[in-house]
Amino acid sequence: RTVYVNGDYLPETEAKVSIFDRGFLMADGVYEVTSVLDGKLIDFDGHAVRLARSLDELEMQAACSKDELLEIHRELVTRNGIVEGLVYLQITRGSDGDRDFVFPDPETTKPTIVLFTQNKPNLADNPAAKKGAKIISIADIRWGRRDIKTVQLLYPSMGKMMAKKAGCDDAWLIEDGYVTEGTSNNAYYVKDGTIVTRPLSSDILHGITRKAVLRIAAEAQLKIEERLFTIDEAKQADEAFTTSASAFVMPVVEIDGVQLGDGTPGPIAKRLREIYLDESRKAAI
Ligand code: PLP
Repeated sequence: RTVYVNGDYLPETEAKVSIFDRGFLMADGVYEVTSVLDGKLIDFDGHAVRLARSLDELEMQAACSKDELLEIHRELVTRNGIVEGLVYLQITRGSDGDRDFVFPDPETTKPTIVLFTQNKPNLADNPAAKKGAKIISIADIRWGRRDIKTVQLLYPSMGKMMAKKAGCDDAWLIEDGYVTEGTSNNAYYVKDGTIVTRPLSSDILHGITRKAVLRIAAEAQLKIEERLFTIDEAKQADEAFTTSASAFVMPVVEIDGVQLGDGTPGPIAKRLREIYLDESRKAAI
């Protein structure tokens, strides 16, 4: 695999980052994951805009322009022959060769930028989406700026492990009695034809897929309520689903052992997945 590190395209075995990099020592970095279908990028613009915002919120430098970013994404997709898969992008604050809590001087410290691809031949035709996901709920003990897409992913990673140990696929996070989001996705339930999801705030990541799916749902004349909801409401739903750039619309068929509907992916989740994939392929660049 060819990867990109600070201006160079290299074989992955030759790519190097300093052990003093603040991404490595302090999770002082941000990332984006963009999916690839038919060899093209899905919603590159949305990811580039959110990346700029994440960097801004953390007073980090941009490392390169949006046009350069697009070119690097495309070059890696081509070089690695990715038809379906993901492009991972990470920018960290870099390092001035020492460990210190205080940010290094941005005049003399360059950010570190790394990109690599992941080949996923069944990204669109995902067998997991046909089965639907089983979810557990766990406490949301992450930090309070979940609107910034940082590489601090230890708790989400632990959440996935808790789900796996419980024989499930993923976890939804609960704070003050309400669902925030999934470990790596936004969360929704559907009751009597109305889609319910948490409103945007610093409590959740502002999903690129969330934005697209809510637009599609509105265009399809579906009712949407952006409000706080409890896990008990979700358990009584007709259906539920999650959204993310890497799994698109993923139906949810079970929450904390409670089966939703007939235990198979619901009609609205299936329809939104289909339209999302269709529209994304058409708009891909
Ligand atoms: N929420 C969290 C915590 C995430 O990590 C992600 C994606 O990684 C999402 C939501 C979904 O965001 P997007 O649709 O932009 O992938």
